[in-house]
Amino acid sequence: MASLPMIPELLRQLFREPATNVFPAKYLPPSVTEFLKKVGRGEAAIHPPVALPPAFRGKITYDPEGCIGCNLCAKVCPAHAIEPVPETKRIRIYVSQCIFCSQCTDICPKGSLRMTEEFLLADEDRYSDNLIVE
Ligand code: SF4
Ligand code: SF4
Repeated sequence: MASLPMIPELLRQLFREPATNVFPAKYLPPSVTEFLKKVGRGEAAIHPPVALPPAFRGKITYDPEGCIGCNLCAKVCPAHAIEPVPETKRIRIYVSQCIFCSQCTDICPKGSLRMTEEFLLADEDRYSDNLIVE
């Protein structure tokens, strides 16, 4: 239970505007959303606030050309983020499920999978084009 001296502050906070922006990005101020659109068009770049460490594990990339459809990656994935596509003998990766462990990249015999430095992956739709790799 709140102590007595805190009660006036608690009441004040009830009627104050939030101090932070609401997430997700659609609530950001136009200055930020316009900037992000420029980033999407390749006209601006976001620099990470700190240098990424060596061997950083960000969004996975996949080279379907080299893939032989062995499905080893899907078998080792602890997050069930990789789905075999039998019709094409390729795979589909659901980035929203990925836990960035890199086990698939380690086991792939063809070097078709690679972790990148991309880490800005927030999205409202877990099945958006940005979060499906195939
Ligand atoms: S990095 Fe790990 S979790 Fe992500 S797809 Fe590969 S094996 Fe699955
Ligand atoms: S382990 Fe490599 S070669 Fe085998 S299915 Fe996965 S991506 Fe393709």
